[in-house]
Amino acid sequence: MGKGLYMGTNSIEFHRRFQSDDDCYEYLSELKWSQAYVCEKCGGSRHCKGKKPFSRRCIKCSYDESPTAHTGFEKCKFSLLVAFHIVFKISTKKKGMSSIELSNEFSLRQKTCWAFKRKIQTVMKSSQTHPLTGIVHVDEFLIGEYEQGVVGRSHNSKKRLVIVALEIIEKGVGRAYAQVIERASAKEFKPFFNAYISQETQVITDEWKGYLPLMKDYKKLEQRPSNKGANFKELHIHIMNIQGWLRGIHHHCDKENLQGYVDEYHFRYNRRSMMGSIFNLTLQKLIFNNVR
Ligand SMILES: [Zn+2]
Repeated sequence: MGKGLYMGTNSIEFHRRFQSDDDCYEYLSELKWSQAYVCEKCGGSRHCKGKKPFSRRCIKCSYDESPTAHTGFEKCKFSLLVAFHIVFKISTKKKGMSSIELSNEFSLRQKTCWAFKRKIQTVMKSSQTHPLTGIVHVDEFLIGEYEQGVVGRSHNSKKRLVIVALEIIEKGVGRAYAQVIERASAKEFKPFFNAYISQETQVITDEWKGYLPLMKDYKKLEQRPSNKGANFKELHIHIMNIQGWLRGIHHHCDKENLQGYVDEYHFRYNRRSMMGSIFNLTLQKLIFNNVR
C-alpha cells in the first residue's frame, strides 16, 4: 500500500492523511484488491487501468470496476471523503456518533446519515465465531428504565428486553455480547448462549428459572442470588453503561434498530484494547461483507 495502512485514532492525523476523494479512492482500491484482483463479472484475474483513477478494468471481459463498486460505499449520497470521515468517527470515538450529530458535523440530511450509519452498524454485528470463555456472567435488562427484581420478569410491552453476557477475567472484564429478546425464557436464551458462550465454560446467572433448562448443555452453569446486583457487580456496571449510552444517543427506536445499537456498542467495546486498527477493520467489513 502506497502510504501504508492508516492506524490510530488521532483525528488530526486522519485529516492530514485523507484530504481528498482521491486519497480515499486510492486507499479503498488498495484495501479491496490487496490480496488479489478478481473480476466481479467473469472471475478473470488480470486487469489494466480503468477509466477513472484507481478503477480497474478486466483484461478478459473489459468490465471497468470502481473501488466503491459492490461495497458499502456504492451509491453513497455523499463524497467518499465524507464517508471515510464518518466511518472514522463512528468506529474510533468511544461513544460513536448519532445521526443527528453526524448531520450537524457534515451538513447532511439526518435521514442520509442514518441510512449510512445503519450500514456501518450492520457490519459491526458479531461474526459469532469467538464464543466467550472463562467465567461468564449472564443477565437480562430492560431498555427504557432499569428495574431491579421485577417479579416473574414481566415487563411493559413498550420496553425491550436484552440479554447480556460478560466475561470475567483475571485482570477484570473481558469481552461481552448482547441480544434483544422477546421474553426471558429458555427458548429465547438458548440461541444467544449457543452463539456467544462456550459450552465448556463456567456460566453464572441469577436464580431465574428460565436459565435452568440450559444446564443440559452448559454443565458448569451455576445460579447465585443476585442480591440486588451486588453479586454481579461488573455486569451491572456494563449494563448501566449501555443504558446510559443509549439514553444519550437515541430516543425512539424499534426492535431491529435497537439490535443495531447493541451490536455497535459491543463492536467497539470488544476492541477497546486495539482501537488503532478499528477503522481499517470497519472499512474491510464495509468492502467485503456485502452491505450494499
Ligand atoms: Zn472480467
